[in-house]
Formats: sequence, structure tokens, C-alpha cells
Amino acid sequence: MQGLLDMANMTLHLPEDSLLQPAWDYIQRHHETSVRSPLFPVFLSVSTYILLVAAYTTLDLLAPSWPWLNRYRLHQDRHIARASICKTLGLTTYNHLVFIFPAAVAQWLWRPPIPLPQKAPTLTEFLTGVLACTVIFDFQYYFWHMLHHRVGWLYRTFHAVHHQYNEPFSLVTQYLSGWELFSVGFWTTANPVILQCHCLTTWAFMVFNVWVSTEDHCGYDFPWAMHNIVPFGLWGGVPKHDAHHQRPGTNFAPFFSHWDWLGGTAYDPSPILSFKDKNKNKET
Ligand SMILES: [Zn+2]
Ligand SMILES: [Zn+2]
Repeated sequence: MQGLLDMANMTLHLPEDSLLQPAWDYIQRHHETSVRSPLFPVFLSVSTYILLVAAYTTLDLLAPSWPWLNRYRLHQDRHIARASICKTLGLTTYNHLVFIFPAAVAQWLWRPPIPLPQKAPTLTEFLTGVLACTVIFDFQYYFWHMLHHRVGWLYRTFHAVHHQYNEPFSLVTQYLSGWELFSVGFWTTANPVILQCHCLTTWAFMVFNVWVSTEDHCGYDFPWAMHNIVPFGLWGGVPKHDAHHQRPGTNFAPFFSHWDWLGGTAYDPSPILSFKDKNKNKET
């Protein structure tokens, strides 16, 4: 009987465990030294950002001559100026050299290599971990953001720089003051620690956070964008954050819609047709 129960437990647990375990075993076998380094999470976030920004900026440069691509842009009649690309690239490079690189070196010098657990997280732990870290980050940034709009001194000193562009493009994502960059970086690092996430979950959350933050500013309403995938308007995403850059008293949450609904700060950018609306209009 005991044997049968064990068998039942094994069959119940095996599929969950086995899904991420092979990938985790591979990482541990072949890349253990690299991923244990305190520099690895920084490398992962920075390289994800560079790749995404390079891809979106290429699209921005191609959009004026590619009408089929331009029709996905929120502001189809105004193209991204090369001068704006150079200016935002300049501050992004400065932020990386002055804040991110020294913080990474400090971690590398003072933090010991991270111990790796033998077991991978189950798929449920992995997905709920990424979701929970994102929900908490959304809450933290909503209040930070609202405060930095409502207190004049905080706005002028720390957040106004991000609002120099009222029609954002991907490089505006990290067109930030040092304090805003630090706050965002701190929550991204602290949330998985508070929730005691597996390092695989932590890295996935970091990549996902960079992905959705860049998507918020990209200026494209692609069918695979989060706000077109997540149902019931729960994800504000590109249209709502783009609207925040035009109406700075609204849409303070970076990702989800619930805090702006609850706080009475939601603004639905109906003048900008979403991808679904565009398709609906075409059908009628
Ligand atoms: Zn923004
Ligand atoms: Zn703002």
C-alpha cells in the first residue's frame, strides 16, 4: 500500500518537477561559475535591455519607409528623430557608466558567489513567483510615481527628466534620473529576495520586467503586446503608459490597471485606436 502511495506521489510530482529540471541541470553543469557570479543578474538585465532597444530602434528607423510597420505605431504621423535617439542613448550610456557599472563592480567585490540549489522550481512556483514579483513591483512603482508627480520638488528634481518626451520610444525607458533608476533597480532586486524565489525565477522576473518596461515605451501596438494578450483590460501596457506621457496626472501604474482604477487616476486613451479596434474597423 505504502508502495502504491509512493508511486502515486511520484506520478503526481514528476511532470511538474521534470519540466524545468533538465534546463536547470544543464545550466548547473555547463555555466555554474558564470551564473553564480553576483554580476550575472546585472549582465542579464543590461543585455536584455540592449537587445530590446536595438530591435525597437531599428524598427523606428525603418518605420518611415515601411508603411506596413508604421501602421502599428501609436503616433503614425510623427517619426522618431535621430537627434532624440542620440540624446536618449547619451543619458542611457551615462547612467550605465556612472550608476549601474559601479554598483555591479561593488557587488562583484563584496558579495560572495550565489549558492545554487540542486532542484529547479516547479513550473507553478516559477510562474507564480514571476507574477507575484511583478504585482508587487507594480504596487511599489504606482505609489512612487504618484508621489513624484504630486510633490512638485520631487517631480522637478527626479522625475521631470523622464517626461521630456511625450511620445515615448524604447530608449525613453531608461531616460531616467539616478534616483529613479536606483528605486526601480532596488525593487527588481529586493522583491525576489523578500519572496524567497529560486534564482531561475529571479532571473526570469528580471528579464520579464525589462521586457514589459521597454514595451511600455516602445510606441508600437503589436498584436503580441501584453495589453492585447491579458484579458479584461487588466494590463495597461503601451497605450496607457503612452497616454501617461501626454496626460501626466493619469495612469501611474507601469503594468496593471487595478491601482489606477482604485485610485481614480485611470485614463483610457480612446483616441488612439488599439490593435483590436483597428482590425474591427477594417472588418466593418
Ligand atoms: Zn515612461
Ligand atoms: Zn510620470
